[in-house]
Amino acid sequence: MATTKIINPATEQVIKEVAIQGAEELDAAVARALAAGPAWRAVAPSDRARLLRRFAGLVEDHLEELAALETANVGKPISESRDEVGMVAEVFYFYAGAVDKHRGATVPVAGGVDMTFHEPLGVVGAIVPWNFPIAIMSWKVGPALATGNTIIVKPAEITPLTALRLAELGLEAGLPEGVLQVVTGKGSVLGTRLSEHPDVAKVAFTGSTEVGREVMARASGTIKRVTLELGGKSASVIFADADLEKAAASTPGGVFANAGQDCCARSRALVQRSVFDRYLELLADAVAAWTVGDPTDPATKMGPLVTAAHRDVVAGFLAPGMGGSPDQPVALAHRGPVPDGPGFWHPVSVVAPADPAWRMAREEIFGPVLAVIPFDDEEEAVRLANDTPFGLSGSIWTRDSARSLRMARAVQAGNLSVNSNSSVRVQTSFGGMKQSGFGRELGLEALAAYSEVKNVFVSTVD
Ligand code: NAD
Repeated sequence: MATTKIINPATEQVIKEVAIQGAEELDAAVARALAAGPAWRAVAPSDRARLLRRFAGLVEDHLEELAALETANVGKPISESRDEVGMVAEVFYFYAGAVDKHRGATVPVAGGVDMTFHEPLGVVGAIVPWNFPIAIMSWKVGPALATGNTIIVKPAEITPLTALRLAELGLEAGLPEGVLQVVTGKGSVLGTRLSEHPDVAKVAFTGSTEVGREVMARASGTIKRVTLELGGKSASVIFADADLEKAAASTPGGVFANAGQDCCARSRALVQRSVFDRYLELLADAVAAWTVGDPTDPATKMGPLVTAAHRDVVAGFLAPGMGGSPDQPVALAHRGPVPDGPGFWHPVSVVAPADPAWRMAREEIFGPVLAVIPFDDEEEAVRLANDTPFGLSGSIWTRDSARSLRMARAVQAGNLSVNSNSSVRVQTSFGGMKQSGFGRELGLEALAAYSEVKNVFVSTVD
């Protein structure tokens, strides 16, 4: 079978060769998942919960191994990988606890008893991106298994290693064969087939808006259930009445974490004009402390980008001409150092002031580039924050609680935080508005995305 070389983005060394599977192998996986379905949905709820808890425990036991693998494959700092693997265990514990709490209802009706059941969908296809491979896989696997589905995961072609290891741990935990499988290969082959396959009941997709659109179109042939977690162009909105020191100190983490390769990256900082210069001064100190280097070093804040090709795409946002007119360079307020030698490094870059019409202020960059844009009043802040087809995330920085609530209701995004950059928690729902997608992952809300309500009426009339 053909294989692909998996590269460490920090060293450019080959880590492993992984099979490139084709449509035939995918069809065989779907047949196994379909066959495993009836026995899996018949597992007693407390036993299914026990299996998920055991799975979570094994993830904890293998935390260092999984984190090292994720760092080697994605180039993300080991401290981030540890947090993300820790989250995987937490996700499985959370959904283990939800198995027997996802209850139906009885509904008052005339002439009988009416009740609802949450039925599993069947075979779920999970399509996962390269930026948070193991964490995003778990967001789909946890609720899918808890609600009695079987699942086939297709990781991104370049980052399959933790997905393969996690599936092995699932088997070790006692998941029956066929309940959780991983297929490796091209999105254009396996992703398209999963989206069209007549025996796949749902596709849970996380990735770019462009591919999400295609998945949705293909899924329409079989009226497949689809949830889409897509791109973002989130903003931090920083008002003059905010704790400016805290807002500036938090800015790098909100945009440069995972080297900016984060769908929630706040790649626009909208800053009220009266504090614009002061904010930039404070930001300079925070950005200088954002150390870029060897991702295996626990002190490192940022590693390389995932591939050379992706680094070139990111660099294109700062190329000559990106500052408005063909000969106008962007105004770089900060450009950090990068290590010498191998690795797909890109410097931390801050552009200020940026114009809201520039490409870097409108498109998802997915790299360590921040555009700082001034605004005058609350109305303009709302208009700029919403001036994007995306609606995933964002932050509001203010000490005025009424304003924070007005802003939180006015900004069109699925996940907002006030005086914080936190977007993702296991217990709360996560997902997008507008072209950032639909459906919610995590929290109890995800259970609804992996089950279907069945209504049953029993006549009590003789
Ligand atoms: P991508 O869309 O290129 O790929 C995502 C997945 O889709 C990969 O597994 C890929 O192999 C597969 N794929 C590729 N072509 C396909 C096709 N024609 N049909 C079906 N599947 C196909 O995205 P990426 O570059 O891996 O990830 C980056 C994107 O993901 C960014 O836009 C980012 O914002 C988004 N993202 C969103 C979230 C979220 O929760 N909203 C989280 C992480 C990443």
